[in-house]
Parts: sequence; C-alpha cells; structure tokens
Amino acid sequence: MINAKNIYKSFNKHEVLKGVSLNIKKGEKVVIVGPSGSGKSTFLRCLNLLEEATNGEIWLDGKLLTDVDPYLHDDIIELSNTYKTMRVNAPDRTAQEILNEIKTNKLLKRFEGKDYSAKIKEIRNNEHLDINIARRNMGMVFQQFNLFKNMNVLNNMIYAPVKLKIMTKEDAIAKAKGLLERINLPDKIDAFPSSLSGGQQQRIAIARSLMMNPEVMLFDEPTSALDPEMVGEVLALIKELADSGITMVIVTHEMGFAREVASRIIFMDDGIIKEENTPQEFFSNPKNCRLQEFLSKVL
Ligand code: ADP
Ligand code: MG
Repeated sequence: MINAKNIYKSFNKHEVLKGVSLNIKKGEKVVIVGPSGSGKSTFLRCLNLLEEATNGEIWLDGKLLTDVDPYLHDDIIELSNTYKTMRVNAPDRTAQEILNEIKTNKLLKRFEGKDYSAKIKEIRNNEHLDINIARRNMGMVFQQFNLFKNMNVLNNMIYAPVKLKIMTKEDAIAKAKGLLERINLPDKIDAFPSSLSGGQQQRIAIARSLMMNPEVMLFDEPTSALDPEMVGEVLALIKELADSGITMVIVTHEMGFAREVASRIIFMDDGIIKEENTPQEFFSNPKNCRLQEFLSKVL
C-alpha cells in the first residue's frame, strides 16, 4: 500500500533521514518508536508529502508520489551517459558491477543524455499520482490537535471536504454527525475547540481526518500533548479504528499500546531503521544495543 524506498531528507547540511525503506501492506499497523530527534516526525511528514524527501521514492497503491529517483532504477541508469562511458571504457566488467559503482559513488550527473531524461519523464508521466489525491488518501493526526480555533466542531469537520468539492455540504454534515456519534461526542457539534478538553479535541481531530475516508492514517505522537487522564480515551479510539481494518502508521511513546495494536514495530534511531520486528520479539528479544538502551529507559 505505501512503499517508501531509501528515503533521505536533509535540512540544509543536516541529514535527518539516511536511507529509510519501509513497505507497509494494506491493513497493517506499523508503530514507530525511537528517541526524540531520530527523524520519526520527518519520516511521517515525508510519507504525507508535507516534506519533500531529498532522495528516494514513495509509492502509494502502485503510484509514485515523489519525483523519480534514478538510483532506484537500473533501467534508467543504463540509459545514462555515465553508464555508457563506463561500459565502453571497461568492457569486461559486468553491467551489475557498473550499476553498483554508479549507485555507491553517486556518479550520475545533471545531464545524462536524452534517452535518460526521456525515461525519467516516461516514469513521471505514467506512474505519478497527484499530490492532492494522495493527501486525501492519507489522514494525519498530530501531537498538537491542529483544529481550526475560529471554527466550531462541525465546520472543522466539513471544511476540507466541502471546499475541495469532495462532498456536498449536506452529505458532509451527515457524515460529520455520524462520526461524532461514533466517537461519542455528538453533543459537541456546535462547540468551539477552546471549550473542549485536550482528549476531546484530539478525538475530533481524528474524526475530522476520517471525513475523507482515508486508506491510511498517520499518527504523530497523538497522545503526547495530553494530560495523563485523557490518554486512554484517545488510545481507545485509535485502537477501535485499528480494529476496523484501516492501514496505520503510528509514532508513539506508549509502549503498552504499541504492543497491543502493532502488527510490526520499527525502531528508528539517528535517521535509520535499526530494528524491525513483531511486537512480541521486539520487546522480549531486542537485538540492537541502542534499542536495548531505549527500552530500558522507557519501560
Ligand atoms: P523526532 O520526531 O524523532 O523527534 P524529528 O523528525 O522531529 O524527530 O527531527 C529530527 C531532526 O530534524 C531534529 O534534529 C530536528 O531538529 C530536525 N528538523 C526537523 N524538522 C526540521 C526543519 N523543518 N528544519 C530544520 N531541521 C528540522
Ligand atoms: Mg516527532
């Protein structure tokens, strides 16, 4: 469903993601844990195209969301002037050796010839998915609930789908009412965010992202900004959603929740995935020493 291939992200000279690859299947619940500053939020934001990855590709349902990364395509590299020159100069080397050298040493230059550009363009045109369609398919919930403070709950919920002409206003209102029933807050329909508790705001933020019927939900520490007594209600809602079969990627520090809900847990540290396992193995038999250290602090 979502396939992130070799994602790099730098802010100026600071390299935050250093080659993250993650293939998420339909219905999977992938939980990402790791120390603060390890790049978890940046990775989610790259998945959702809120940040543009420096290198690498993101695919959603077989469609390309990012630009083409030539280093991920042998057939593109084979059309490049660099490859052709190396081939002529070293006829006894195998194609794979040359490809590997080009990739390892990042030898492609800006102008690699018209066959090369044409192939990139072909992939771009044939495989590319419009960013706005992709975003609709991926709901994102942030640590800070991000409700529009100047709008009541109903308007928060119907604003995007109506503005983007995905639904009529009547349909959007009906859907919003249904979702508010589902999260047990039907009586808050006219309330403004400032009058709601943090837990209620976050549940409404989750309901708001469900308005678009996303195929994937991304959660970035959805309970970190909540008072402890409100964490439970938000986790319960996420758990219920998880059980409904939607694909999820969740960054969290709630280890009990992670164990319960995850089909797979990822440990991210210093911009790379250091370990990946079933929850059972992840907690009972961590192999990476940074993960062992991390777990000893958070458990
Ligand atoms: P995490 O979510 O794991 O705590 P982040 O992805 O938020 O980590 O941040 C990883 C690193 O990237 C941090 O050092 C952070 O300062 C840096 N960073 C994140 N966003 C930006 C940005 N927009 N500009 C510059 N640096 C950033
Ligand atoms: Mg973060």
